[in-house]
Amino acid sequence: EKTTAKALEAARLKSEFLANMSHEIRTPMNGVLGMIELLSRTPLDEKQRRFLSTLQTSAGGLMSVLNDILDFSKIEAGKMELREENCRVRALVDEVTELFAARAELRGVEIVAKVENDVPSQVEADTERVRQVLSNLVGNAVKFTESGRITVRASVEEYKGQVFQLRFEVIDTGIGIDPALQGKLFEAFSQVDGSLTRKHGGTGLGLAICKQLVVLMKGRMGVTSEPGRGSNFWFVLPLRRLESTGSLELPSTLSERPLAAPPSSKDGASRRILVAEDNPINQEVVREVLSELGYEAYIVDNGVQALSALEQEAYPLVLMDCQMPELDGYGAAREIRRREDGARHIPLIAVTAHAFEGERQKALSAGMDDYVTKPISGAVLAEVIQRWWPKSLSREPESGERLASIRVPSAAPVEQPAQALDPNVRRSDAVAKIFLKHVPDQVISIG
Ligand code: ADP
Repeated sequence: EKTTAKALEAARLKSEFLANMSHEIRTPMNGVLGMIELLSRTPLDEKQRRFLSTLQTSAGGLMSVLNDILDFSKIEAGKMELREENCRVRALVDEVTELFAARAELRGVEIVAKVENDVPSQVEADTERVRQVLSNLVGNAVKFTESGRITVRASVEEYKGQVFQLRFEVIDTGIGIDPALQGKLFEAFSQVDGSLTRKHGGTGLGLAICKQLVVLMKGRMGVTSEPGRGSNFWFVLPLRRLESTGSLELPSTLSERPLAAPPSSKDGASRRILVAEDNPINQEVVREVLSELGYEAYIVDNGVQALSALEQEAYPLVLMDCQMPELDGYGAAREIRRREDGARHIPLIAVTAHAFEGERQKALSAGMDDYVTKPISGAVLAEVIQRWWPKSLSREPESGERLASIRVPSAAPVEQPAQALDPNVRRSDAVAKIFLKHVPDQVISIG
C-alpha cells in the first residue's frame, strides 16, 4: 500500500512538473512566435525577410518538438483526456488535406482527399485528437514522398447500429519502409534512417504519440509499406454516429467558418473586448491580433482591475488570462458570475498556458464559457469569439470574408486601411522594445 501511495505521489509530482514546464516555456515562446508574426508584417528588406523566415522555421520547430514532448508525457502520465464532441469527418479530412496541399504541390506531389459516401457526416469523437493523428500521418507522407500522389481516405469498415468502425488511411507513393523496421515504427524515439532524419527533422515521437492517441480512443493503428513503392498508414476508430442537428449546428471546421464578425456599429463600446493579462508581451500580441480581427482591446493587468473595468462599462466579451497576480482569472470569473447573479451572462474566455484537460475543467467550473491555450493564434481566437459574441451585436459576414484567409500567417502584408499602416509600424516598434526588455528575464527564469 505504501508503494502504491508513493507511486501515485510520484505521478502527481510528474504531472505537476509538466504543467509548470508547459506554462513556463509556452509563455516566452508565445512572445517569440507572436513577435515574429508581427515583425513579418512590417516593411523589411529581402535579407531581413530571409533571416526572419529562418527564425520563424526554427521557432516553429522548437514549438512542435516541445508540443511532442508535452503530449507524450501527458499521455504517459495519464493526463490526456478525450472530449466527446461532434466531429464532422468530411470537413476534417478536407481541412487536413488542404493544410498540406501547398507543401505537397511545392514538391510536385498531388494530394487528394477521398471520403467515401457511406461515411456519416457527424460522429462523436475528439476532433482535435483525430486531427492530430491525421495531420501527423499526412505530414510524414509529404516528408517522405518525392513524386506521385498522397491520398487521404476515410471509409467505413463495419457498421453495427449506431457504432461503426471508421477507417482513416494515408496512402503515399514515397520511399516506403523496410518490413524489418515496420514493427518498431510506433515506438518512441524511433527513426528509420538517421541521415533522412537529419534532412527532415523530427523527434521520432510522432508515430508513438499517434499510436497512443488511437489506443486511447479505443482504436487500432498500423502500416503496410513496400520500400520504393510507398506506404499506407491507417487507423481505425470505433465511433458513434450522430444525427444531424440541421440548421442549429455550428460549422466545425475553420475553413467553413466565416471570420468572426465584429459589429458594424460605430459605437466604440460594442466592439471593445476586455482583456485581463499581466504579461506585457502577451498584452501586445493580443492587442494586435484582436485589432486585425476588427476588435479593440481594453487591457487590464489583473482580476481586480477586470472587475472594476466591468463596473465602468458593459463589455460584450472578456478574455481572461488564468494566471495573474492579485486576483487570478479563476477568482475573477467566480466573482463576475456571483455579481451577475444569473441576471445576465457575459461570455468569459479563459486564456491559459496549460494545455491540460484539468485546466479546462478548472476554468469551466470557475464560470468561464470557453478556453484557449497559448500561443494564441488569430484563427483560434476568431473562432472562439465568434462562438460567444452576443448575437444582438453580430452582423452577417460579408462575402469573401473567410477565416481561411488569415489561417496561415504569411509574410505578406495584411490588408489594412492605408491610414492604419503608420501607427501600426510604430506600435510594432514599441512592442519590440517591450519584448527585448522582458524576454531575457523570462528565459533566465526558466533556466
Ligand atoms: P518524426 O516525428 O521524427 O517524424 P515519426 O514517429 O513520425 O517521427 O516517424 C518515425 C520514422 O518513420 C520517420 O523518421 C521515418 O523514417 C519513418 N516514416 C514515417 N512515415 C513515413 C512514410 N510515410 N514513408 C516513409 N517513412 C516514414
